This record gives sequence, C-alpha cells and structure tokens, in this order.
Amino acid sequence: MNAELSQLIRIQEVDLEIKRLREEVSSLPIRQKELEDHFAASVKEYLDLKQQLDDALANKRNLETDLETEQQKHQKFKSDLMKATNEREYSTAIREIDITSKAISSHETEILKLMEKIEKLEAQVAEKTPEMEARRSEVDRQLAEWSTAVTDHQAKLDALVADRTPLIESLGREARATYDRLSKMRSGTPLAEARDYSCIACRMTIRPQVFNEIRRGEKIITCESCGRILYFNAAGGGQ
Ligand SMILES: [Zn+2]
Repeated sequence: MNAELSQLIRIQEVDLEIKRLREEVSSLPIRQKELEDHFAASVKEYLDLKQQLDDALANKRNLETDLETEQQKHQKFKSDLMKATNEREYSTAIREIDITSKAISSHETEILKLMEKIEKLEAQVAEKTPEMEARRSEVDRQLAEWSTAVTDHQAKLDALVADRTPLIESLGREARATYDRLSKMRSGTPLAEARDYSCIACRMTIRPQVFNEIRRGEKIITCESCGRILYFNAAGGGQ
C-alpha cells in the first residue's frame, strides 16, 4: 500500500481515539454532577420522612400534655359533683364532666392515630437507612472508578497527542492539507473504507474499475460523493 495512505489511515485512527478519550475526560464533571444530583434527590426523600417522624412525635407529646390536663379537670369536676350542695353546682359539674370526657376521648383517639403514623414512619426510616448508606458507598465507589478511568484516559491521551505529531509531520504537504481540510469538513473522519463497491461513509457506489484501484492502494483516491479519501481494508472482509 502507498505509504502516505497507510499513514493517513493511522492518523485517522489516532484522531478518532483522541476524540473519544477527550469526550470521556470532558464528560466526567457532567457525569459526577448527575450522580450527585440523583443521590441528593434520594436523600431528600429520606430527610422528608425523618422530618415527618419528628413532627408526629412532637405532636404526640403535645397531645399527651393536653390529655393529662383534661384528665385532671375531669377528676376535679367528679369531686365537685360529690361535694355539690345545690342544683346549680350539681348541673355545672355534670356538664363539665361531660365536656372533659369528650375531650379525653377525642385526645385518646388522636394519640392512637399518631402512634400508628409514627410506627409506619419509624419503619420506613429504619428500612431506608441501610439503603441510604449503601447508596452513598455505591456513589463513592462509582466516583472513584470514574476518577481512576479518567486519569488513565488522560495519560493515553497525552501519549497519543505526542505520537500524532511525528505522524502528521511525516506526511507530504498536499496530503496533510487534504487531511486537515477533510477532517474539518467531515467531523474528524476524512477517510472512509471502500467495501462491497461502495463508500461506507456515504454509501455512494464505486465503479469496479475505481474500486480495484482503491484495492491496490497505490494512489490516493477520494469518494466522488463525500470527498473522503477511500481505502481498502483487507482484514475488514471487503471483497
Ligand atoms: Zn463517500
């Protein structure tokens, strides 16, 4: 194969790998943020549950204090009833006993409802705690893994960028200009494989005579449709 053509193929491989590694490296902050945001959302759900539990417990304490007050009043009116000496005192005590009984009963009902709610919330919080801890360590593990991979990618990237310089400098002026121009025009793929009598990049059919020339690889031939430099890959199963 034409030496320049094989150089061009190699440069495109290097460039595609550089592009891929740069994308990997530059996407790290975005991936980190997405993961942290997702974790923060799950923490929020957990913290909301804990807040609901704290509120319910505070509510229950207040109701218990009120209940105690009503029970004391109830006892007082019961003893008032025993000591009643006239009709007025008697009916006042009866009325107050009735009012405090209703208050006691309603407080007790409320407290029971709250106890059920508290029990459910406690179970939910307890259930979520290990899950939360596991999720956090999974997040940390993932972050560490990405960070290691990016360090690795950065090292490969630096090596490839260093390798690229002598490769591109070894090209003739014309081939280099063609490569650079096509690379810009065709978003980093200035070369395309010719396979089964067509350009695999744009699907344009290649005349048999031209295809045979590409297969010989003696000179640089470009696609009539997309302008890419065409090459034949003997190992790629093309005919
Ligand atoms: Zn083409």
